[in-house]
Amino acid sequence: MQDPLVSLASELIKAPSQTGKEGPAAAVMLEAFEANGFDEAYLDEVGNAIGVIRRGEGRTLMLNGHIDTVPVGDPDLWPYPPLSGAVVNDRLWGRGACDMKSALACMVMAASDAAAAGFQGTLIVSGVVQEEVGGLGARHLAATLGYDAVVLGEPSKCRMMLGHRGASVVEIVFPGAIAHAARASLGENALAHVARYVLALEGLELPRGGALGGSSATPTRVISSPSDSTNVVPGSAVLTVDYRSVPGEGPAEVVERLHSIAHDERIIVRIADSGRGGADALRSTAAYLADPDAQAVRVAREAFGRALAAVGRRFEEDVWWFCTDAPSLARRGAPVIGFGPGEEELAHTTNESVAVADLHAARRAYAEFAKAYLARPKNGEAA
Ligand SMILES: [Zn+2]
Repeated sequence: MQDPLVSLASELIKAPSQTGKEGPAAAVMLEAFEANGFDEAYLDEVGNAIGVIRRGEGRTLMLNGHIDTVPVGDPDLWPYPPLSGAVVNDRLWGRGACDMKSALACMVMAASDAAAAGFQGTLIVSGVVQEEVGGLGARHLAATLGYDAVVLGEPSKCRMMLGHRGASVVEIVFPGAIAHAARASLGENALAHVARYVLALEGLELPRGGALGGSSATPTRVISSPSDSTNVVPGSAVLTVDYRSVPGEGPAEVVERLHSIAHDERIIVRIADSGRGGADALRSTAAYLADPDAQAVRVAREAFGRALAAVGRRFEEDVWWFCTDAPSLARRGAPVIGFGPGEEELAHTTNESVAVADLHAARRAYAEFAKAYLARPKNGEAA
């Protein structure tokens, strides 16, 4: 008989949920909420799967993950079929195994564990849509649900994560004038502007240090125009810069910083267009860093520590190197605390898998935190 936790994670993997087509996995979430005694289980207007356990007045804690996955890619490159949810050598395999269906399974089971042990307040488990492209699901959730703290289960090798840098795709457009390459002096070579800019970028002062390690600006691509000839002086060029930001650096600050070294008023600096419009029109994701001394963070640190010690593992604290829904989820001030089973390096790869031991550790950690954060007030103590 298979462990119900592993079975649920495996069922979620078997239910395909590429971004925008999350329905099958959302349905598995709803069934799991119902099977595990949640008081409410529903899909909201954008397709997020939400389960709620209510135990009277008190705080609200949300355990959150995304149900969408990146595409499986070429199935022949996988050691086991990507939607098999197979368990081999104590690892669960498949797309979404670590990013991040296992965490969602752990959250469902942990909420039910916390309810069995007793708590005071409200516990929400939410599986959101479209994290991999723009984060529509999390934005909708943050606008429609109230909560006091969030655990975000993106993979972290069961370490507590306090945030991550933001990311912006910046385009820098350089001027020029087309001419025959044999009469280059009649034109203006846009690539010469690019070269001067890239060298200036190496000397640009950026925010340094701190828990997130500072910002970075990395040139990643140049497209000159026309791009189909080898004997034409390019009349324009677009340089792409991968900018990693710290909190306080929004799109306007990033553009201003990168514009400060463009000593030619014709040079345009802009955040790339996502093509998606609306609140998500720019290819820019915010940085996030939780206050390490926030009450919820302190309770989580102790609870995760206890849970990990019980399975012979050490508590560690770090930050993620990739972007998550955390900035959206934190929009109304609730701290977002990261903790997830699985190795983040395996996310999006054809080796995506997670150790079954991580699932057990994460379930225990989530339950321990829920019980501690939603503890019944002792006699005379305020909730
Ligand atoms: Zn993820």
